[in-house]
Amino acid sequence: MDDLQRGLYLDLKRRCTVLQQRLAKAQSDPDLKLHAQYATESLKAVKDDIDQIMKQANTPGLKQQDEERLAKLLALQFRQLSRRVSIVQNYLVPPIERFSVNDRRMTRYVGKLAKEINWPGQAPIVSTSSDAGYMTFIGFYLIEVPAGEDQSLLALPDLIHEMGHILLEENRSLFLNDFLKSLGKYVSEGKDASGKAIDQALYSQWEEYWVKEFVSDMIATYVTGAVFGYQHIRLCSGYPARAFRGAVTHPADDARARGAVAVLRKMGQNAAADDVEQRWQDYIKSTGEKKTAKYDTEVPDVLIDALASSVVDACSKLGIRPWTAPQMANDSVGMMQEAWKRFNADPAAFEKWETDRLNQLWTELGVRTPRSSPRTSLPTPKDTPPTMSRCGATASVIMSITSLLGKNGKTPPTAPKRGDHGLAA
Ligand SMILES: [Zn+2]
Repeated sequence: MDDLQRGLYLDLKRRCTVLQQRLAKAQSDPDLKLHAQYATESLKAVKDDIDQIMKQANTPGLKQQDEERLAKLLALQFRQLSRRVSIVQNYLVPPIERFSVNDRRMTRYVGKLAKEINWPGQAPIVSTSSDAGYMTFIGFYLIEVPAGEDQSLLALPDLIHEMGHILLEENRSLFLNDFLKSLGKYVSEGKDASGKAIDQALYSQWEEYWVKEFVSDMIATYVTGAVFGYQHIRLCSGYPARAFRGAVTHPADDARARGAVAVLRKMGQNAAADDVEQRWQDYIKSTGEKKTAKYDTEVPDVLIDALASSVVDACSKLGIRPWTAPQMANDSVGMMQEAWKRFNADPAAFEKWETDRLNQLWTELGVRTPRSSPRTSLPTPKDTPPTMSRCGATASVIMSITSLLGKNGKTPPTAPKRGDHGLAA
């Protein structure tokens, strides 16, 4: 090992130590503990690997040829180790280090919600610093939402959409096995409006991208009911019009609305389905958008209905509480529904009620501070939540936080997958 490589490895090790020191305080924070430990353990694993590599590379008396081979191998390993550190540095340290009172509110709300709806996975933490709408870093159990979202009740159904991205990754076969057979049949045997065979690329378009959004929408609808549809309209109203034009990553907004309606019908809730459908049609009228030639072929009812059946069945098998179940005191989903009911009935009077309800919620969750003065320091002991939400995980290739902490501590981190609700792309 020459001096340059020795220096690089030592520098990387120091980078790990610096980050570990910055994470130390968060390890005793009840809301961040698992994420901080996960990041710290990831960095420790890199440092251990560096020590091992430097020890093995310290082989005196190598021939010239072997020296060159060793240098190449060390260069390759350095790149891999550096990448592992960067992932922690880029994706985990910032939200942990900058965890604000706003983040804590949203994180505790998600923890409460997850408990109430019998969410089968780990509850993620939430950072209110997104620059691209709602999004999920699947493997890190991290949701990002735009600043100010802790001061609004109307968008909360989208949190379930983001959690749905995680749930899908962890239960892909349960959600998709049956549907993918229907998709394969449709693409191989179906015809478009002019009688031509369907473009085979439609299969991978759905399988790689669109199912993720549809399934996440449908899970959110299963949990929250019509309010997910209302929030979908609210969200679409502020973004570029693309009701009938799907992006690579996201299906057309009209198809997504139909997905929510399909779930409501599968659940036997036709009045709610009719209401969302009517409101969506009113919205479309206001935009004047028209179907594209390919639209009906790309997102036909037969596929949306098949996927809605799969999602409703999967959610039921996982024991997730549907929105139709009896509500409990201070029910999180009930609060979303009450908010939308009041907003739809009297938007002008809504703000006052929303402010009071939010203050009540943050008091319940132990994060009652003036809404106009966000705080960036860690909470005092009295801010400890009544019940700690479990901190958790996501993503196929990606190791989970829990696995890193416990079972597979040596698994190197990989860049987290992102899922976002809609505006990106
Ligand atoms: Zn999404």
